[in-house]
Amino acid sequence: MSSVLGLRCRECDRQFPAEALHVCDFCFGPLEVSYDYDAIAAVTSRASIEAGPRTMWRYHSLLPVGNETPVSLGAGFTPLVRAERLGAELGLKDLWLKDDTANPTGSFKDRVVSVALTKARQLGFKVAACASTGNLANSVAAHAARAGMASVVLIPSNLEKAKVMMTTVYGGQVIAVDGNYDDVNRLCAELTSERPSWAFVNVNVRSYYAEGSKTLAFEIAEQLGWQVPDHVVVPIASGSQLTKIAKGFSELATVGLVDGDGSLRISGAQAQGCSPVATAFNKNIDAIAPVKPDTIAKSLAIGNPADGYYALAAIKNSGGGCGSVTDGEIIDAIKLLARTEGIFAETAGGVTVATLAQLAQRGVIDLNEKTVAIISGHGLKTVEALTGHVDPNHTIPATLDAFDAAVGFDDPLFN
Ligand SMILES: *Cc1c(COP(=O)(O)O)cnc(C)c1O
Ligand SMILES: [Zn+2]
Repeated sequence: MSSVLGLRCRECDRQFPAEALHVCDFCFGPLEVSYDYDAIAAVTSRASIEAGPRTMWRYHSLLPVGNETPVSLGAGFTPLVRAERLGAELGLKDLWLKDDTANPTGSFKDRVVSVALTKARQLGFKVAACASTGNLANSVAAHAARAGMASVVLIPSNLEKAKVMMTTVYGGQVIAVDGNYDDVNRLCAELTSERPSWAFVNVNVRSYYAEGSKTLAFEIAEQLGWQVPDHVVVPIASGSQLTKIAKGFSELATVGLVDGDGSLRISGAQAQGCSPVATAFNKNIDAIAPVKPDTIAKSLAIGNPADGYYALAAIKNSGGGCGSVTDGEIIDAIKLLARTEGIFAETAGGVTVATLAQLAQRGVIDLNEKTVAIISGHGLKTVEALTGHVDPNHTIPATLDAFDAAVGFDDPLFN
C-alpha cells in the first residue's frame, strides 16, 4: 500500500499522477511528491521504525515507493557523532556531525539514487541516466549495476580522477563532455525529450530522487533520541538536499514522531567560486543570478541551481544564514576536521566545516545551539585538492640512525 497522493506543483498546487513527470505543464513549476500523512501516521511509530533495517529504508513509509523492494546498497543510517574537539576549536558547545562519507559509494547521493532507481524500476524503466558533478555519477552507476539496469552517465570531462574511475568500474556507459556541469545538464535535459524510455535521475524522476534527502533529517532526529536539533548546516549545489532536510523535519512533526512543529534554523554553505545562493542571501534579493563556477569543490559547482530559489526561501524562513568560503579555507577545513575528529571529507565537507566556522564567528550560530553539520562526501574522492598540502613529515632510509636523526628522543610529542 502506498500513501503517495501524487505529484503537486510547488507554484500553482495542481495535482498530477505519480509518474515520471517533473514540471507542471500549466506554469512550469517543479513538482513535489505529496502524501496522505494520516495514512502514514497510522502505520508508522518510533517502534516500527526502530524495528526496521539499519539503512535509510527504515523510513520506507515516508518515501514515495510504497512497499516496492528497494534498489539498495545499504545507504543511510550513517553515524551521527558528537564533535567535542572540533566544537572546542570553533567555540560550539553542542556540535554534531552527520557522517555521510560512510555511504556505500562515499557520498550522500546514495540516498537519493536509491529512491530514484527504486521508483524508476517500479515505473518500468530499464535504463538509468544522469548528468553529474561526480558523486551522482558514482552512485547511479553502482545502483544501476545492483538493480541489473543499464546506465548512461554524463560528466564534465575535467572531473577528479577517482570520481571518473568510481563511475566507469561499474560497467555502464560513461560519457565525458567538454564543458562544465551546467553544459552537461543542458545536454541531459535535451536528451530527456529525445529518449523518453530512460529514467534521468536528475530530470524526469527528480521529484522522487529529491525525497531521498529527507532521510538525513529522519536519521538525525532519531539518533538524537527523536529530537529536532536547533540548527543544521547544509552544503548547497542544486539546493535540493537543503530544502528536503527542512521537509523531512516538518514531516516528522506532522506524523507525530517528534514534538513541536519540526522547525529549526537551517544555514547553507557554498564555495566562494560558486556561490549564487550565498550571494543572493547576502544581497537580500530573491532572484538567484547564475555564475560560472571556479572552485576545487567540484561536487558543489552548479552555477545555475535548480532549487536555489527554494533553498534560499527555506534558509530565510528558518532564520538561518548562508556563507561562502575560499578554496584555501576549504583545504584548511578538510585538515581541521580530519585532525580533530578523524573524519576525512571531500571538498564539499571542507566547504561545510569552513562555513560552520564562519557562521559561528559571525554569531549566526549561537554557541549553545545543538548544531548538526552535514559531512556529505568522502575525502578519497578528491585527493587532488590536497596535493602539496599534506606530505610525510620526513622521508628517510630504513635505518635506526636515520629515524633518530629525523625524530629526536627529546621530541615532546612522544615522551
Ligand atoms: C550533490 C552534493 C551535495 C549537494 O546536493 P544538492 O542537493 O544538489 O544541493 C552536497 N555534497 C556532496 C558531496 C554532493 O555530492
Ligand atoms: Zn504549476
